[in-house]
Amino acid sequence: MTKYIFVTGGVISSLGKGIASASIGKILEARGLKVTLMKLDPYINVDPGTMNPYQHGEVYVTDDGAETDLDLGHYERFTKAKLTRFNNATTGQVYNAVISRERRGDYLGKTIQVIPHITAEIKDRIKKVAEVSAADIVLIEIGGTVGDIESLPFLEAARQFELDMGVANVLYIHLTLVPYIKVADEIKTKPTQHSVGTLREIGIQPDILICRTEKVLSEDIKEKISLFCNVRREAVIESRDVESIYQIPLEFKNQILDEIILNHFNLISKSSDLRNWEKNVVERVLNPKDKARIAVVGKYIGLQDAYKSIYEALIHGGIANNAKIELIKVDSEDIEKHGPCKFLNQVNGILVPGGFGSRGINGKVKAIQFARENKIPFLGLCLGMQCAVIEFARNVCGLRNANSTEINPKTKYPVISLLEEQKKVKGLGGTMRLGSYPCKVKKGTLAYKVYAKELIYERHRHRYEFNDKYKKLLEKKGMVFSGICLKRNLVEMVELRGHPYFIAVQSHPEFKSKPDAAHPLFREFITAALKNK
Ligand code: GLN
Repeated sequence: MTKYIFVTGGVISSLGKGIASASIGKILEARGLKVTLMKLDPYINVDPGTMNPYQHGEVYVTDDGAETDLDLGHYERFTKAKLTRFNNATTGQVYNAVISRERRGDYLGKTIQVIPHITAEIKDRIKKVAEVSAADIVLIEIGGTVGDIESLPFLEAARQFELDMGVANVLYIHLTLVPYIKVADEIKTKPTQHSVGTLREIGIQPDILICRTEKVLSEDIKEKISLFCNVRREAVIESRDVESIYQIPLEFKNQILDEIILNHFNLISKSSDLRNWEKNVVERVLNPKDKARIAVVGKYIGLQDAYKSIYEALIHGGIANNAKIELIKVDSEDIEKHGPCKFLNQVNGILVPGGFGSRGINGKVKAIQFARENKIPFLGLCLGMQCAVIEFARNVCGLRNANSTEINPKTKYPVISLLEEQKKVKGLGGTMRLGSYPCKVKKGTLAYKVYAKELIYERHRHRYEFNDKYKKLLEKKGMVFSGICLKRNLVEMVELRGHPYFIAVQSHPEFKSKPDAAHPLFREFITAALKNK
């Protein structure tokens, strides 16, 4: 029988529910259990694919081409779970499904209501994840903060779940904030009490509380929380601010959170094995031997979450090289105003991430020119590859104002353009080239050296492609097309001969990097950056 853990959050948003859920998944996996994780998002969009990064942060893409919440990235980085489109459900999807069924006449004249119809659809989606994953434990993170109007149907479905499945098969974990008031030098439990009170009004009594705090919680405080919130003392878990998010599974394990969960479910399993994580991830992050300064040149630099997987993948590359990554976030529009030198003079590597639209494009192109001419290791991702092609076409091949038709539909030299199939597309939601595609890596190239494989799979999220019409010319001038999507003959990777590390890919390798298994493109990028010091 599958066991279900619901993770809710209270007091404030951004408490790190996603990382907490992923960490719980990790410590349960370390006990030999098969886990999967799911995110329920209360917003009405069908998926985050059409949202501005400033609204939502990064859009994480799964192998099967779903555009999902960035928490799925945490789940895949921390655990072995293979996630699909079923692992993220939104209010939009839930209502869409119910309304389509109503229009078909499936409800046979009934009045369609939040309870039981919307909640039934939510529960069915959770059960579907259990079925598809065949996991022992399904962790379900409910987005938003308890008390929000939007998340009520999800919480109600979570409440009903215990009724349907039995107390021994369902567990509720609530994440709260226990603030420290500096002027009073006091730690306050009242917000947690209120938050749990709100949850209990809905009918959910949390079994475990995870208390986010900047200070150590004394025994008295924990006992007070336990008493007022009706949660056993040992199930009041402290989650103090840590240097690296990868320490959190260890912090949880030290407070025997895995044991408390297994006891609740009456599960017996092998003893915990987090040695590899401790030694090869945490110890390395905390005690780096070297340091690399990496510039990320993008246009959503102000928001930490916009390039989440990229920043993590860089950290992974650092872990693999025993090095700390000093991130230099550069706004590409600043490069347009002041030139690249001021920002990129002191860096060991330059990364240009994906993106959409024309704002800041020329700054990215200038940054790439700077990397090419000064032989600074460069990694381009998606739009970053498209910009690398534009830069080379303009500055090496003499194609003046060469561009992508996304930026200038009338450009004389459309080195990046739309495929015929994309020209027919009307709507914006879910219509890009999405998900995992095979790519053949050319022997004798840098890409081959990096991947050490001829057939690779990477995830995609884009509309525009390299325009084959320019392949011969660019090749003649020194660009190497080192990866091709075979069936469709699409350029997936480009590089430059005679440069220590210049590689750009149409895909998003950052989605497949893990702390204990850095993606090879990032690992080698950091190796090259360290050599470039
Ligand atoms: N805007 C570009 C395209 O649609 C690149 C997309 C991206 O970087 N994810 O092709």
